[in-house]
Amino acid sequence: MYACGPTVYDYFHIGNARTFIIFDALRKYLEYRGYDVTFVQNFTDVDDKIINRAKEEGVPPGEISEKFIQIYFEDSKTLGIEKADIYPKVTENIEEIIEFIGELMDKGYAYESGGDVYFDVSRYEDYGKLSKQNLEELQLGARVEVSEQKRNPLDFVLWKAAKPGELSWESPWGAGRPGWHIECSTMSNKYLGETIDIHGGGRDLIFPHHENEIAQSEARSGKPFANYWLHVGYLNIDDKKMSKSLGNFFTPREIAKEFDLENFRFLILSAHYRNPVNFNRELLESAKNGLDRLYTGKNNLEYLIENAEDRIPMENEKEWLENLKQYKNRFNEVMDDDFNTADGIAVIFDLVREINTNVDEKAAKQILQEAYDLFMELTSVLGLLGKKEETLEEDIERLIEERQKARKEKNFELSDKIRDDLKEKGIILEDTPQGVKWRRV
Ligand code: AMP
Ligand code: ZN
Repeated sequence: MYACGPTVYDYFHIGNARTFIIFDALRKYLEYRGYDVTFVQNFTDVDDKIINRAKEEGVPPGEISEKFIQIYFEDSKTLGIEKADIYPKVTENIEEIIEFIGELMDKGYAYESGGDVYFDVSRYEDYGKLSKQNLEELQLGARVEVSEQKRNPLDFVLWKAAKPGELSWESPWGAGRPGWHIECSTMSNKYLGETIDIHGGGRDLIFPHHENEIAQSEARSGKPFANYWLHVGYLNIDDKKMSKSLGNFFTPREIAKEFDLENFRFLILSAHYRNPVNFNRELLESAKNGLDRLYTGKNNLEYLIENAEDRIPMENEKEWLENLKQYKNRFNEVMDDDFNTADGIAVIFDLVREINTNVDEKAAKQILQEAYDLFMELTSVLGLLGKKEETLEEDIERLIEERQKARKEKNFELSDKIRDDLKEKGIILEDTPQGVKWRRV
C-alpha cells in the first residue's frame, strides 16, 4: 500500500493529519485481518515550496526538508500513527526517476522540449479514468499556459530544466529536477512493484496527481497500477478545505495545547473517511466525550476484573460471552465495507453498553477478562485506548505544592511556568477559597 506523503517544508496541519491517520488505521485493520502489509509513504523533499523556504531562510533546501521530516515523525507519533515500513524520498531516488522517464521516452509517451520533459497525454488512451473525465472534457477545462513548452495543455512535466542557482541533477536532457507526479510512480514501482493493491491520499490528489501517476505507470508497464484507490475527504473549516494557502489551518501542536490528540484521532475515525469533516471546537469536545465514555468503560472493567471472583464460569455466563463475539463479526463486517470506521466505532459503543449492562463484580473473572480483551482488541485496531496509565496524581500534587511554595516566595515566573506546564498536560489549576484545585481538561 502506498500513500502520498507530505511535502516537507512546514509543520503539517490537521487536514493532512486526517489523511495520515486514515492510512495508519487502514494499515492496522488490514494487519488485524491477517494481511501481510507493506506500507510505503513518501516524503516529497524536492519542491518549489521547499526551495522558496530555503531561500527565505538562507539555508540549503536539504536542511528544511530534514528538519520537517523529523517534525513529521514527532507529530505523527502524538497522533498515534505508527511508522510506515518505508519512507522513500525523492532526493534518494533520482537515478530511478531518470530511468523511468527514459523508458517513457523510449516507448514514445514522453517528449523533450527546451530541457523539460513532458508526458504526452494524447498517447495514453485511458487518461481521465480515475477522475471519470474524458480527454475532450479535460481539454476544454484546461488552462493554456503560454510560457510552457507543451504540445497539449494537459501534458504534464516529468523533468524540469534547472533554473540558474537552483537545486538540480544531471540527466540525459540536461540539468534539472523531477516533476512532482513522477516521484510516486517511480517509488511505488521500486518498492512495491508494477501493480500494487492500494494507493491513495487526500481527495485533492485524484486529479491531476493520481491520474498522472496512473498514466505514467501504466504507459511504462502495460499493467494496472493500483487495484484499489482510497481518497480521504477534506477536513474543512467553515466548509472550506483546510489548507496552508488559505491560512485556515491548525497544527496538531496547537490542538495539543488544549486537548489530548487521541481525541482528535477519535474525531477523525468517527467519520467515514470519504465524507468531508467540518472541523470546529464543538466537534472536538463531543469527540472527547465519546472517547471519555470508552475510557470509562475500560476503567470500569479493569476495576471489576481486579475485584471479581476467580471461579469457574457458569453456563449462562459462557453463553453470554459466546454471544459477545457477534460484535466482533459486526465490526469486521462494517469495516470490510469500504473501511467504515464510523460504523466500527458505533459497534464498539454497542459492545460497551452490552458489557456494562450485563456484568458486575459478581461475574467470573475469566468472563470479565475475555470481554475486556475483546473490547481492547477492537479499539486497538483503531489505535485507540492505548494510553498508558494516567499521569500519576502524586506528580500533579507535588507540582502544585511546588507552585504554592514559589508563590509564597513571590517567584511568579516559576509559579506561572508550573501552571502552564500542567496545562500542557491537560491539567487546569483553579485557585479557590478552599485552596488549589485541579481538574482535567
Ligand atoms: P501535502 O503535504 O499538501 O502534499 O499533503 C499531504 C497529504 O494530506 C495529501 O495526501 C493531501 O491530499 C492531504 N491533505 C491536504 N489537505 C487536506 C485536508 N484539508 N483534508 C484532508 N487531507 C488533506
Ligand atoms: Zn503521490
